[in-house]
Amino acid sequence: MSSLPYLTAYPETLRAQAAQLLAEGRLADVLRRRYPQAHEVRSDKALYQYVQELKERHLRNAEPLSKVAFDSKIQVIRHALGLHTAISRVQGSKLKAKHEIRIATVFREGPPEFLRMIAVHELAHLKEKQHNKAFYQLCCAMEPHYHQFEFDLRLYLTLRDHGGPALWVAQR
Ligand SMILES: [Zn+2]
Repeated sequence: MSSLPYLTAYPETLRAQAAQLLAEGRLADVLRRRYPQAHEVRSDKALYQYVQELKERHLRNAEPLSKVAFDSKIQVIRHALGLHTAISRVQGSKLKAKHEIRIATVFREGPPEFLRMIAVHELAHLKEKQHNKAFYQLCCAMEPHYHQFEFDLRLYLTLRDHGGPALWVAQR
C-alpha cells in the first residue's frame, strides 16, 4: 500500500480499510456523512480571529500570535499540514519571539472539525516544538477528538490524491 503516503504513520489494519473504501469508491460518502457541514472561516482575518479565540480559551498564557494566515504554498504531506514559525528578535534588553501560524489552503473549504484540528496542532507548537507525547496531550486537551479528525483529514487527502472530488466547496 505504498500509494497511501498520507497514512504511513497508521497501523496496517487502518490503512487496509482506507484502501478498501477507496477501491470501492465509498470514501467520499463516508467522509461526507461523518462531516456534513462546511465552516465559514475563509479569509485570513476570520482565520486569525478563529485561532485567537481558541488560544484565549486554552492557551491564554502562551506568547502572542503576530500573524495567522492560509498559505497555498504549504505542501500537505506527513506532518506539514500547517506551519508554525517563531522568529526571535531582540527588543530592548529582551529576546522576543514573533509567532506566525500558516495553514494549508486545503483547510479553507472543509468541515469545522478539520480546521479545529490544524488550529489546535499549530497552537500546541507555541508550547511544544516537537511532535512528542506532551505535544499530543496538549492537542487532545484542546480537542478530545484530535486523533480521529487528523486521521479523517488524511483520508480526505488520500481521496483527493486519487482524483476524488472536493467535498466541502462552498455553494455560491
Ligand atoms: Zn507540527
